[in-house]
This record gives sequence, C-alpha cells and structure tokens, in this order.
Amino acid sequence: MRLILLGPPGAGKGTQAKVLMDANNIPQLSTGDMLRAAVKAETPVGLKAKDIMARGDLVPDAVVNQIVADRIDMADCARGFILDGFPRTVAQAEALDSLLAERGLALDAVVELQVDEEALAARVENRAAESGGEVRADDTVEALRHRLKVYREQTAPLIDHYRATGKLVSVDGMQAIDDVSAQIADILASEGSQAQVAG
Ligand code: ADP
Repeated sequence: MRLILLGPPGAGKGTQAKVLMDANNIPQLSTGDMLRAAVKAETPVGLKAKDIMARGDLVPDAVVNQIVADRIDMADCARGFILDGFPRTVAQAEALDSLLAERGLALDAVVELQVDEEALAARVENRAAESGGEVRADDTVEALRHRLKVYREQTAPLIDHYRATGKLVSVDGMQAIDDVSAQIADILASEGSQAQVAG
C-alpha cells in the first residue's frame, strides 16, 4: 500500500503514520525526520537544510526529491510506504508522479487530515512542553505561524492536485487520535474492497 498523509504542521501526520506503519507493516517516510537526521549528522544536505528548517521555510525541491527517490528504492519499501511531509509543493508532487510512473507504481490514497488552525498552535506548544527540554528548533509559536503560512501557500494546492486524481480522502483530524486512526482504517478498507470489485 502506498499512501500520502497530507495536512498542516501539527495535524497529526506523524502520529497516524506510525499507526499505519504498524498496521500494514510498511515504513513511514518522513522527510522532516530524514532532514533532521541529516542536520544532526552534519551531512552536506544537513548543513544546507539547517537554517532553512529552523525558520520554517521549505528545503529546495531538488534536495527532498532526491532523498525520497533514494529512500523509495530501498528494499523495505517494496511492499509500500507512507509518505509523511512529502510532497509539500506542486513541483514535488509532479516529481513524485514521475518517480512512481517510472517504476510502474501507483498511489493507493492521499489522506488529508483536516484540522482547525487555531488548535494547532496549542498542540505545538504542548509538544514543546512534553518533550522535556529537547525542543525542535522550529517548534516555537513564531516558526509554527510561518510553517502554517508556507503550508497554505505552497502545500494546500496539493489538495486540488490529488482531488483531481480521485485518490484524495479527507478525515477530521480534530477527533481523538484513535478515532482518526479508525476512520482512516475504514476508508482504506472500503477503498481496497472497491478496488477489488472494480477489478
Ligand atoms: P511539520 O511538523 O511542520 O509537519 P516536518 O517534520 O514534516 O514538520 O518538517 C519540518 C521541516 O523540514 C519543514 O518545515 C521544512 O523545513 C523541512 N521539510 C520537511 N519535508 C519537506 C519537504 N517535503 N520539502 C521541503 N522541506 C521539507
């Protein structure tokens, strides 16, 4: 199963990705996690990404497209994967479309987590408080506001991009975590059976 999780920062993509990963035995591909690992390891990509990420801007498309292409070709992605935080721009979505087409692969669904933006700042503040000191460089209210603006301008247009493919499903991300998971599982199960009926 190949899935994309779409939604603003703090919508719960990472949380749901982990649930889906365990349920389907496929890896979560979080470009944010991969970039943070690169920053920590001080690789060339990490050195380039560090300041961009800290202020909540997007790392250049070419950089993330390459990271994802390399990751998708690894053996553990053969049965599928969950993309979390990628694509984030229309150019990234187009790069992903060709990357998948070149490999003869298709997406099963794009799951949009719909959330109330007012609630997101509170979530991020909690995340900072619960982390017990080790706060992400971009988990401040100021950086979050900027990430939300970047989301609205550059990532939200992907909702229409994927609606046009018929693959978009939208879920109310303001429900309790387990209820969001259950709703996603139901949708994927019914899509799967529809696909079987369709042939
Ligand atoms: P969020 O909680 O904001 O969804 P992520 O962990 O997905 O956070 O991403 C953190 C930061 O990493 C982003 O603000 C951006 O700087 C960078 N990043 C992650 N994924 C991408 C991507 N697909 N394209 C460009 N930059 C990215």
